[in-house]
Amino acid sequence: MHAASSPAPVRPGPAAGPAGDEPRTIRLHETDNVAIVVNAFGLPAGTVFPDGLVLTEFVPQGHKVALADVPAGGVVRRYGEVVGIALRPIARGSWVEESCVETPTAPALDALEKATRVPAPLPPLDGYTFEGFRNPDGSVGTKNILAISTSVQCVAGTLEVAIRRIRRELLPRFPNVDDVIGLTHAYGCGVAINAPEAVIPIRTLQSLAQNPNFGGEVMVVGLGCEKLVSERLVPAGAAAEDSVVRLQDERHEGFGSMIDSILAMAEDRLAVLDARRRETCPASELVVGLQCGGSDAFSGVTANPALGFAADLLVRCGATVLFSEVTEVRDAIHLLTPRAATPEVADALIREMAWYDAYLEKGGADRRANPSPGNKKGGLNNIVEKALGSVAKSGTSAIAGVLAPGERVREKGLIFAATPASDFVCGTLQLASGITLQVFSTGRGTPYGLAQAPVIKVATRTELSRRWSDLIDLDAGRIATGESTIAEMGWELFHLILDVASGRTQPWSDRWGLYNDLTLFNPAPIT
Ligand code: CA
Repeated sequence: MHAASSPAPVRPGPAAGPAGDEPRTIRLHETDNVAIVVNAFGLPAGTVFPDGLVLTEFVPQGHKVALADVPAGGVVRRYGEVVGIALRPIARGSWVEESCVETPTAPALDALEKATRVPAPLPPLDGYTFEGFRNPDGSVGTKNILAISTSVQCVAGTLEVAIRRIRRELLPRFPNVDDVIGLTHAYGCGVAINAPEAVIPIRTLQSLAQNPNFGGEVMVVGLGCEKLVSERLVPAGAAAEDSVVRLQDERHEGFGSMIDSILAMAEDRLAVLDARRRETCPASELVVGLQCGGSDAFSGVTANPALGFAADLLVRCGATVLFSEVTEVRDAIHLLTPRAATPEVADALIREMAWYDAYLEKGGADRRANPSPGNKKGGLNNIVEKALGSVAKSGTSAIAGVLAPGERVREKGLIFAATPASDFVCGTLQLASGITLQVFSTGRGTPYGLAQAPVIKVATRTELSRRWSDLIDLDAGRIATGESTIAEMGWELFHLILDVASGRTQPWSDRWGLYNDLTLFNPAPIT
């Protein structure tokens, strides 16, 4: 179940029917001295479990109960890993809440095993296909979108006006095009464009324009005096003069003329995109991003292991799977570097962790700043516990490559794309890296969505899936209640990915048109 090459997990929770009210806990690993409470509203003091364990106090859903006495200074184990050091004695049957434990230190980056336990390739999985839009460069999209790039925030309002008219006046004539969207952002001017880290936002914008869901039809709206000149967003080989509308150009007489220029260029591109048709493509052409947001203690028990199982199926098909979120990988890095396909891949993983450690330190923070109040309310004491649950998304295959933030993906297989854990920043960077679909797991719940690629939302708990039945696409909570296994949920998710990639099934975010803003990662100074 877990990313670690550890013994098979044990799940000795008392048997309970799907809707049973019997007290139920889940312990993930035979060395764990805590288990988490499954029951929807927690369990009261005095609750007796079949094995004789008695709760000494109320324990909320998703929170940990001590299975054994832990002395002060003793370790709290979950996932077979140390997730906390006891700050005071913790008695068997009591609630292991945040104030009981100290966060362990992060694994040292200079003492990690590199490619020492590379998983053998999983058996290939042939014959799975999806209906996608094949591009001239060989990539395959899951949507057919006209995306209009921008070189600076100054033009965002103008582009918005133009897009409203394109939707109203042009799109009805091009029925095979799914949407027209602006790739707007806060970058482009007022920034230290030559600062070393400026490479990240600039590369992100360059890569974004080439996402396979946009059909290779790049068009840029710029102002004319900004630091990020529009031409830098036009891919090599394309003619810049045919791909850029510059609002300050002297040929523009007033606002109406700018809008006319944008509409004329958009119309040419819509005509090209409208000629595209879905065709049957092997599942190996998929590029799927994995992310979590609003995590809880079930994330690492239900949804993320199901994502990991589906990730393995995709890798077996020859597809590309990206996992990300540096601060949620950092404390589990000792489980990942041994899985790197080569020592070079392990070095790249370590390089990205070290870069982020330094980035956080420069800002006077460290990875302990990550867990949110909601994460803690959901039972996660600290970043170590959150990270161990987060990396379950990566499944069990070898890590084939590492991408720096905003780099386009080059190889197939399981790839670590370094991004912040912030949902919208990670989403934007994964889109830049070339994902054509994202799977997003959530425990607390977030109405997250991306206009640029379909997002499948997977809930960690059945209670959330029921309450948000028109936002959550898949209920992985059934794993905790015993109604489904990780493998069954993983297969269900895999088939849902193929359906959504084919346009046969619309996830809730697309049905509502529920989309977050693009949010660039800019670690460089602004001026
Ligand atoms: Ca996230």
